[in-house]
Amino acid sequence: MKKIAKSLLLGATALVAVSCCQKEPEVKNIIFMIGDGMGLAQTSATALINDWEPLNMERADYIGLQKTYSANNRVTDSAASGTALATGHKTYNSAIGVDVDKNPVANTRELAQAAGYATGVVATYSVTNATPAAFVAHVESRYLEDKIAEQFVEADIDLFIGGGTRFFKERRDGKDLTEDLKAEGYTVAYDMAELEGVTEGKVAALLAPNAMPTIGQGRSKDYLPGATAKALEVLSNNSKKGFFVMIEGSQIDGGGHDNNMVKIYEETVDFDNAVKVAFDFADEHPGTLVVVTADHETGGLSIVSGKSDFTLPEQGVKYEFGTTGHSAIMLPVYAYGTGAEEFAGVMENTDIAKKMQKLLGLIEE
Ligand SMILES: [Zn+2]
Repeated sequence: MKKIAKSLLLGATALVAVSCCQKEPEVKNIIFMIGDGMGLAQTSATALINDWEPLNMERADYIGLQKTYSANNRVTDSAASGTALATGHKTYNSAIGVDVDKNPVANTRELAQAAGYATGVVATYSVTNATPAAFVAHVESRYLEDKIAEQFVEADIDLFIGGGTRFFKERRDGKDLTEDLKAEGYTVAYDMAELEGVTEGKVAALLAPNAMPTIGQGRSKDYLPGATAKALEVLSNNSKKGFFVMIEGSQIDGGGHDNNMVKIYEETVDFDNAVKVAFDFADEHPGTLVVVTADHETGGLSIVSGKSDFTLPEQGVKYEFGTTGHSAIMLPVYAYGTGAEEFAGVMENTDIAKKMQKLLGLIEE
């Protein structure tokens, strides 16, 4: 009896949902967080060094695995994987926002912007570097960073925060793109402190000539969590409809390339602190989805048995690297908040873009 009543009720609710008005997407905000070069060994090692204290990303409601191979290589670079995650298209290594035939393909951020969402990107490397560039630009090669910077100006994106001053200001062609940004109404900042009172409007923060310093080189531990909070505040205020933002922990990758476990650890902790800001925001703002993943693993990292396991990590744990490049291993996908269940299971990196676009009502179901 109860069962029948419940199913009738569900039927009635469904009827109301269909008969009333146009269906608003359930997901209002997407915070897409990419730890560059962050495979399962990187997150495992970070938690292990913290005596298995759970990382913030472990609060995830649903976990998936993604396959990262590109259109021309089983081991992807950040450009092809960034393009896959942003657009839903596999492409060749070094491509930014173009398919295998070098035709531009739309990314989630652009589709969201066209639909009235506020959009932004945040990074700890240059904003013109491969991962953030894939959410903004369309060029044949990731190395065309002057051109990528021009496309940032043309994109009319609400907010970008990261390094890369030299691609906007001290360019080979002598142009100063920050003048164009100011003319378009951007607050252009060179230090996070300059954004203290800024709570809305267009924001361009260029905080280093190219890459920002690593944590080991003195980048503030407040930077990425603070920039994440700033982005969520500004984007929330810029559109009632909602927002899409990509936030990159860019330099975990460099730790892998350098086979430097300390760097991997510090950069992963830093990224995870930004994940906490995003998850807390999702707790307070129903309709927010946070997806935390990577673009590829870097370093072929493994954690192997040491001489004296179960003693202090630095004495007992051995980290071994299989390469100074990237590896092809599948990556964890941590999903939290509204719509998180869509990210359970094994998927292609391109599926992540398509799922996000569906959830924001940007493409057909
Ligand atoms: Zn790399």
